[in-house]
Amino acid sequence: MTSSQPRVGILGGTFDPVHVGHLAVGEAACGALGLSEVLVIPSRHPPHRRTEPEASGYHRFAMVALAIADKPSFVANDVELLADSWSYTSVTLGRLHQAAFDAWQLFFITGADAFAEIATWKDYPAVLDLANFVVISRPGHPVEALPGRLPTLRDRMIMRQTAGPDDGVGPADRTKIWLVDAPTPDVSSTEVRRLAGAGRSLEGLVPPAVEQYMMRHHLYR
Ligand code: ATP
Ligand code: MG
Repeated sequence: MTSSQPRVGILGGTFDPVHVGHLAVGEAACGALGLSEVLVIPSRHPPHRRTEPEASGYHRFAMVALAIADKPSFVANDVELLADSWSYTSVTLGRLHQAAFDAWQLFFITGADAFAEIATWKDYPAVLDLANFVVISRPGHPVEALPGRLPTLRDRMIMRQTAGPDDGVGPADRTKIWLVDAPTPDVSSTEVRRLAGAGRSLEGLVPPAVEQYMMRHHLYR
């Protein structure tokens, strides 16, 4: 594949529910790495675990689709919800390789809180060779802390603000960990669920269409 091939972002998460922080993370990654599209992939979870999502995969996917309806470069993707087993990033990236993407073209996007736990992920450290990783600061979790927190990965980390030509992303380049210090809103799905359960307004925290969907379907009550 040549360097004119698209660069595809992958934003995985529980999205229980999707909120404005997720959208900001995807946009920050697009701006910093020149991504042509972002696949938003709600994860499937093992049943009867403490971390089981409150809303079903159907509702979580529907809310993602509503949240990105006016964002043409974002695409809701059901690969993990349709899978036979629960979600591992390495498996999802392997599926994308089968769908004809090379590792250098793929950019797995996470917040700095999630990436700080990378050593606990299935297939670590091999998973880091399956895609570039784009790590975005989250309030309380600056990307600047990551080289100190993950010293064995320090050599693969590069601070990045805006995309440019000849930026070290091409078929001959090893995948990297791009650290992006972009401001994102201080919102979490946990906080959105808490406010929804208390019957409070979610204005500014989730897109209006998502708030309406949550109310109509009595989610998180
Ligand atoms: P929960 O409170 O249920 O854990 P969450 O808000 O952390 O929800 P997730 O679905 O767990 O949302 O997150 C998906 C991805 O989005 C993760 O990589 C997470 O780090 C990132 N993320 C979520 N919110 C933000 C934010 N405000 N700023 C930066 N990254 C974020
Ligand atoms: Mg989270």
